[in-house]
Amino acid sequence: MSYKIPLAKPYVGEEEIKALKEVVNSGFLSFGSKLPEFEKRFAEYLGAKYAVAVSSGTAGLHLCVKALGFKKGDEVITTPFSFVASANCLLYEGVTPVFVDIDEKTFNMDDSKIEEKITPKTKAILPVHVFGQPCNMDKIMEIAARHNLAVIEDACEALGSSYSGKKAGLFGNAAVFAFYPNKQMTTGEGGMIVTNDDKIYKMCKILRNQGRQEEDKWLIHHHLGYNYRLDEMSCAVGLEQLKKLDFMLKKRQEIAEKYSKAFSDTEGIKAPFVKAGAEHSWFLYVVLLKEGVDREKVIETLAKQGIQTRPYFPPIHSQPYFKKMFPGQESLPVCEKISRQTLALPFYIQLTDEDINKVASSIKALV
Ligand SMILES: *Cc1c(COP(=O)(O)O)cnc(C)c1O
Repeated sequence: MSYKIPLAKPYVGEEEIKALKEVVNSGFLSFGSKLPEFEKRFAEYLGAKYAVAVSSGTAGLHLCVKALGFKKGDEVITTPFSFVASANCLLYEGVTPVFVDIDEKTFNMDDSKIEEKITPKTKAILPVHVFGQPCNMDKIMEIAARHNLAVIEDACEALGSSYSGKKAGLFGNAAVFAFYPNKQMTTGEGGMIVTNDDKIYKMCKILRNQGRQEEDKWLIHHHLGYNYRLDEMSCAVGLEQLKKLDFMLKKRQEIAEKYSKAFSDTEGIKAPFVKAGAEHSWFLYVVLLKEGVDREKVIETLAKQGIQTRPYFPPIHSQPYFKKMFPGQESLPVCEKISRQTLALPFYIQLTDEDINKVASSIKALV
């Protein structure tokens, strides 16, 4: 079904087409000059020492888990309210995700409940900055330091967010960003690992490229690696998107403010919480519907008006595959409650004021 006002739309155009043409004409479609250039520019933008481009955010998270050496039987503390990739990257290595319930305002991991989950098997904390809302990284880093744990930031939804004046992605041992077309910037598929740690950087580069060390002879592999490379076309698009990033983030901010203003007088809809002192980069615009509102009915009625909306996220511990792997998971009541009430609204730069008003008034009429 095609919607008049879809959930997301990438902001791409002539600049990306021109960059793609240049790459195609150059004949270097992988491992050309665009890859190191994209990595360099991204690291500069963020203020990180190293950046490693990969084929997806999921691939990036997987490489961080490998590079930090977590193994079967280890535990990593993370959030159940996220896209499945933040837990799957652990499951690929037999590492057990240990879920902490979430904060009902920020939808992020409730940091006051982290320490009670720490056991002798705990190796790391993996916070996710959900919908671009930065986690309380001062607190998380303090807990990690006290218990000698690593931190991997899943910053896939938070490019441009910052906490205490420091950008999301610069707090942990490593962090990952993602460039799927609904994210703040896109390369089609793609992701980026950032780190200030020489060892993590080196290992991620090796594992991304089939386990080859730079000094290895052709077709000699010292490690069991993967093909998680990002091709030149994607890197070229990424370079153009980076140039527009500040503009795109500002536009997203403006649209979020317009929505929130439209909902400020509506009892049945709660606009996203914006924390003082934190800079929020908007990935999705997700409202909370009042308890008792029939969300499926709202989605269906809006769809008939050409407006696409979606419930984000079902809890990871309630996913069918997860329940099969870990029967008898304890209930996480805040996450489960929030999951029943969230609704992501159309959110992209090309939305007009008219679109925003139409979406807002249509939803208001239904709750
Ligand atoms: C988008 C996203 C990822 C990575 O997704 P890919 O599709 O693999 O790029 C990981 N974690 C979260 C929370 C995400 O939103």
